[in-house]
Amino acid sequence: MPSPKSRRLWIGTSWKMNKTLAEADSFVDKLLTFPIPRGVQAFVLPAHTALARVRDRLPPDSHLLLGAQNAHWAGEGSWTGEISMRMAKDAGATLIEIGHSERREHFGETDRTVALKAAAAVAHGLVPLICVGEPSVVRDVGGTDDFVRVQVEIALSELAPAEIEQVIIAYEPTWAIGDRGIPATVDQIAPVMALINDVITTACGSSRAVLYGGSVDTKNAAELLTTPNTDGLFVGRAAWEPSGFIELLKLCAPLAGT
Ligand code: PEP
Repeated sequence: MPSPKSRRLWIGTSWKMNKTLAEADSFVDKLLTFPIPRGVQAFVLPAHTALARVRDRLPPDSHLLLGAQNAHWAGEGSWTGEISMRMAKDAGATLIEIGHSERREHFGETDRTVALKAAAAVAHGLVPLICVGEPSVVRDVGGTDDFVRVQVEIALSELAPAEIEQVIIAYEPTWAIGDRGIPATVDQIAPVMALINDVITTACGSSRAVLYGGSVDTKNAAELLTTPNTDGLFVGRAAWEPSGFIELLKLCAPLAGT
């Protein structure tokens, strides 16, 4: 795991609710044909069912980080359908995705539960990958900055400054995500990336990484990475096939800092 101060380029994907065990095996086998470039921190968030399987299929010296797409803040207990941070870690997670817009929209995730999960993740030695981002109705009325600032501030509210340094934030405007997403431009995201950086710097001095996500693909990845305060990309559909993920890693490699 790189130190919070090193500015490696993070390129990763969440598989969301995709891939059987056989499909996960196939992804890993194809990915292993391509050495992850120096300077790039690649990561994959399989579905819970495939997490341990992917971990076990990777060689012990693999630089690919794994994570879970969600985990509960409680240590254990009667939370049907959930997994705990400890269980995610046991299955191979280093990262815990928290607060993706689909979980906020469909599964009742709130700023408060995001904060509880971020604290629980850190308490278990895991890295919270916290997703924030405004819907189009908020952007249309000029409310993006306030909306995202509140999301980030509440997400970090249960953490001490030294813990905030361990957090990764992914700015994912909901209007830019998924099949019906509209790819964002550098001009649209730059002020928000700066704001997130500002909130974190005020809270603790520096963060591990701030990523951008939303309809990233091989056509727009390099340009999006020119956005100041952007330490990498969080990718959905374009990286679900290993060939797509590899293409993104290849094109981002020359842009990585040392
Ligand atoms: C996402 O849902 O977090 C995401 C980035 O998806 P996509 O790249 O498919 O828009």
